[in-house]
Amino acid sequence: MENTFTPIQFLKGVGPKRAEAFIGLGIHTTLDLLRYVPRAYLDRSSIFSLASLAERCRKQTLFSELKSDDIVSEVQYRREATVIVRVHAIRRQEFAGGRKMLIVTVRDDSPQAAELVFFQQVGYYEKVLQQDGTYVVSGNPEFEERFRKLQFHHPTIERVNDEDEELFAKGVIVPQYPITKELKSAGIWMALLRRLALTALEYDGDKIEECFPAAMLGQYDLPELGRAFAALHAPTNLREIGWAKRRLKFEELFFFEMILALRRRGNRVQEQGVTIEPRSTKARTLLDRLPFELTSAQKRVLNEIADDFRSGKPMNRLLQGDVGSGKTIVSVFAMLMAVESGFQTLIMAPTEILAEQHYRGISALFEGLGVNVVQLVGGQKKKVRASVQEEIASGRAHIVVGTHALFGGMTSKNESNLVYHKIGLIVIDEQHRFGVMQRAKLRSMAMDSHGEERLVPHILVMSATPIPRTLSMTLYGDLDVSIINELPKNRKPIRTKIIFENELRTYFDFIRAEVAKGRQAYIVYPLVEQSEKMELKSAVEHYEHLQTEIFGDLRVGLLHGQMLWYEKDDVMKAFYRREYDILVATTVIEVGIDVPNATVMLIENAERFGLAQLHQLRGRVGRGAEQSYCFLATKDHFRYHIGKKPEELSAARATVLRLKTMEDTNDGFKIAEVDMTLRGPGDILGTRQSGMPEFRYTDLVSDGDIITMARREAFAVIEADPHLRKPEHQKLRAAFLASYGSGHGFFDVA
Ligand code: ADP
Ligand code: MG
Repeated sequence: MENTFTPIQFLKGVGPKRAEAFIGLGIHTTLDLLRYVPRAYLDRSSIFSLASLAERCRKQTLFSELKSDDIVSEVQYRREATVIVRVHAIRRQEFAGGRKMLIVTVRDDSPQAAELVFFQQVGYYEKVLQQDGTYVVSGNPEFEERFRKLQFHHPTIERVNDEDEELFAKGVIVPQYPITKELKSAGIWMALLRRLALTALEYDGDKIEECFPAAMLGQYDLPELGRAFAALHAPTNLREIGWAKRRLKFEELFFFEMILALRRRGNRVQEQGVTIEPRSTKARTLLDRLPFELTSAQKRVLNEIADDFRSGKPMNRLLQGDVGSGKTIVSVFAMLMAVESGFQTLIMAPTEILAEQHYRGISALFEGLGVNVVQLVGGQKKKVRASVQEEIASGRAHIVVGTHALFGGMTSKNESNLVYHKIGLIVIDEQHRFGVMQRAKLRSMAMDSHGEERLVPHILVMSATPIPRTLSMTLYGDLDVSIINELPKNRKPIRTKIIFENELRTYFDFIRAEVAKGRQAYIVYPLVEQSEKMELKSAVEHYEHLQTEIFGDLRVGLLHGQMLWYEKDDVMKAFYRREYDILVATTVIEVGIDVPNATVMLIENAERFGLAQLHQLRGRVGRGAEQSYCFLATKDHFRYHIGKKPEELSAARATVLRLKTMEDTNDGFKIAEVDMTLRGPGDILGTRQSGMPEFRYTDLVSDGDIITMARREAFAVIEADPHLRKPEHQKLRAAFLASYGSGHGFFDVA
């Protein structure tokens, strides 16, 4: 198919040197060129005047004017704005140490001026920017209220030539292509690219084959590929551009989801899993004696799990639910089903404290049910450890709660010293801390536990970090996702308030009043010191200050990162038993800690935490029926204004948005959306995810709806026609193989 398209070097205006630059970008033919789509469009209706841009920015710098519903769109809006300006003055500043900065004052016809600021390639910009020249400038604007100063740091700039200016003046929509260094040095500029794209359409536009069935395109109102290219390279209106972009995104996502669908099918067809009978008298007994009713979301998820159990196909399920939504109890019922069907069950927690909490909680729930729960953590005494291991190996232990100690140690023969007995279910709590590899390791240990049969266990991973659905569909595309999207009925939404450091005393008094009512509080403050020793010192000093100067009459506990796990555990247990009124925690209090009597969370230096972290911390309160509060203490100057120096501005604004978001919503998924917009999808889980796909056309932040539909269609196609043999899928198959090759071995390619 591809080779019927004209090679790039045969296009008029492309000589050998230019062809080489194109090929360097993977552009071999007219078709590839058409896939090189404009980054933006110049259109009179989409250009801001500097004055209106300043006005929009101003709204976002003040707390009072931020509206919660606007946050996501505002942040997105902030990502880029385009203006057309004239260069008014160019000024170069040099600092001690040889650092340079270029400040270019620009104007348009509005009363507001702006500055383009360059810290890098100062010499280059100084040379190319022409006094009085007209430029298209795109970037993230920063606005400083007091001096009404509008700035762009390192924007993209493009000289507007006479031809463009004329087109623009006529109201034509002018495509802006990304011009890389390589293109530039081969003398390929914007105007040439525009012309070449038109030529490519003219030569080969009608050779473009459509791979999707017409009905599918029709259902989602997507244009055919050829039509989409025409709209992108030679648009007649803006709506058409959006329409065409959706087509390219859909295609990209469809193929991506198709790979996931094929992978998942592979898993399902080949593996023999454990069959678990969901009807369980133990589960029934527990249900009857629970002091609360399960929420309908919890029931729905349990049904999803029960379906997997019954099927005998191994479950690979991600259970997502906001903090406090009651994931644990769901897993507890699943464990009981497994135990009653005669299988051992593992539950793995990321820390000893959480393992201990699960051990204690689960043992209490199972009292009198004849279920034997054991615990396996690091630092256990040898004798205890040996007897636990014996119980596990013999199968007398029904449920094993533990940390990474569940992996066991190695014997001298390099075998695991842990032998399990017929594992049917593995539950992994707070899964972001465990990698895919660890999941695989547990799985294979479980398979070993079945001897010759090597049955594959069911796996349930629970995540308390809500991530946007779009992201979970791509990151965990090969897992089934269950979502608990409802909090237990007895909960009152946590009230969150941003407070300032000079008001702290007032809120300490508030804590005192809550304690007088019989409640407990957390005070968290982030560690800022460089060395562990200094951290410890400052932690202890802070604690002592609070205990003696502020809360002399109350019982204050301290939890810090340098304590051993059982020391921490002692403090936590004492807090559970209400032997402390206030718990000062210098490290992040463990994700998952559950003390329903705690009603106040005060976070000092809240600006130092990320959104996901703040949300996790806040989730430590509001776990019972009482009204809970979260106070986010931050620097006084945030109240009036944010950052004065330009380089501080964006960080400060992100902080404001973060704290404000916390104040406005308790909804973890919404918070996750904002977090993703602020930090980008790659950073949202705290670490860069290796499995993150890179998309050419798709924006994971804003293309959620297209991801959903592409996924639905791709999975349906693979379900109905796993090898794409049906006549109506032949073009799809060819297109897929053309972009992904046959190396995956997905289809039985002849
Ligand atoms: P998380 O999803 O954050 O892990 P947990 O499983 O720790 O939440 O549950 C939080 C608290 O809510 C626990 O104390 C639990 O006993 C309680 N809980 C769970 N389900 C319900 C329910 N349906 N109604 C009332 N309380 C519940
Ligand atoms: Mg939990």
